[in-house]
Amino acid sequence: MSIPQPQTNPYPQAKPGAKHCRACGHTELEPFYRAPNIPIHCIRLIATREEALAVPRGDLELAYCPSCGFIQNTEFDFALLSYDENYEETQGFSPTFGKFAKELARKLVEGYGVRGQKLLEIGCGKGEFLLEVCKQGGNTGLGMDPAAVPGRLPEAQGVIEYVIDWYENHTGRTPEADVVMHRHTLEHIPEVAQFVRTVRTHMRSDALYFMEVPDVRRILEECAFWDIFYEHASYFTQGSLGRLHRRAGFRVLENVRAYNDQYILLYARPGGPNALLPEEDDLELLNTLVPQFKQAVVQEIARWQGLIRGWHAEGKKVVIWGAGSKGVSFLTTLGLQDEIEYAVDINPYKQGFYMPATGHKVVGPDFLEAYRPDVVLVMNPIYLPEIGKMLAERGLHPEMLGVGAR
Ligand SMILES: [Zn+2]
Repeated sequence: MSIPQPQTNPYPQAKPGAKHCRACGHTELEPFYRAPNIPIHCIRLIATREEALAVPRGDLELAYCPSCGFIQNTEFDFALLSYDENYEETQGFSPTFGKFAKELARKLVEGYGVRGQKLLEIGCGKGEFLLEVCKQGGNTGLGMDPAAVPGRLPEAQGVIEYVIDWYENHTGRTPEADVVMHRHTLEHIPEVAQFVRTVRTHMRSDALYFMEVPDVRRILEECAFWDIFYEHASYFTQGSLGRLHRRAGFRVLENVRAYNDQYILLYARPGGPNALLPEEDDLELLNTLVPQFKQAVVQEIARWQGLIRGWHAEGKKVVIWGAGSKGVSFLTTLGLQDEIEYAVDINPYKQGFYMPATGHKVVGPDFLEAYRPDVVLVMNPIYLPEIGKMLAERGLHPEMLGVGAR
């Protein structure tokens, strides 16, 4: 059986030069951060260094909406992106992330009684999370993703039906679902109001809705420029996320920060919008954080450049740990090349490939035994304990620094 390949662009209207807020329509946007000429795709696997250096690039300009708190890349062009089976987004190989996903699944099954039900996951990736909720609660899944790879998870056979395409082309199947969910999908979508309204319109009124996105509040507070990517068109706080869903006709049940405040989880049901939760009342805070970030990010970039160039000048071998989007964004924003030779990743599907734009080779932890790095920059400090353990098991005790750990 041939598998139809997705070719359509669900958001042709998302072109550079947006003048309005794609969440609320407000027109007085405040631009505050520019990252020109950055790679379009941060986590595509690249087979050769030459190809890696030649990846397509685009411009990013983040603008803040003072009316609803939403932050978007006004230069975003959806037509430049492609999501296919080479899109390797899975974080399922990390024990820490795996544990978090298991806890989320347990909350759906035990907290919301998701048992013997049918779940639709929009942007399911390879389907690891969907499978986990199915296994824990005896559920079945419908997973939609242009980058889905049926067969990657043998246990999913007979449990998950995959649709290798954009959800936007299959909205008619939404009413089949008792639970509609998406994790780390909405930040990739430019027309967020249109998307959430579409989901809401097609959902059954008794269905449960669950979603997860990165929290931009932490990015602003920590000056985490490495968490800003071309692929992320949209950036949320609890407030802007809550407002967006209420405007689309949801009653928000829970809107919480998780995973060391890196992510926001929102649980909702279709219904009349309820009052904002106290934690969603964040416009005043954002009015301070956004201008603060605008100033501080310049210094933060210079600080990292100085540190790494200093190590390099001393002859120290520096590697980054984490060949995902954060690593790519960190290296491209700092404009680093020879100062860092390798990127380490535990995902075996990434090893041997090259980082887009900068061309750093991705190696596995075992490679470090012979290479013996002096400094390991950990792109996500939440993994510091497990990485420290992996290094010690190989007789390595380099200086370890979490990027973003204060
Ligand atoms: Zn807005």
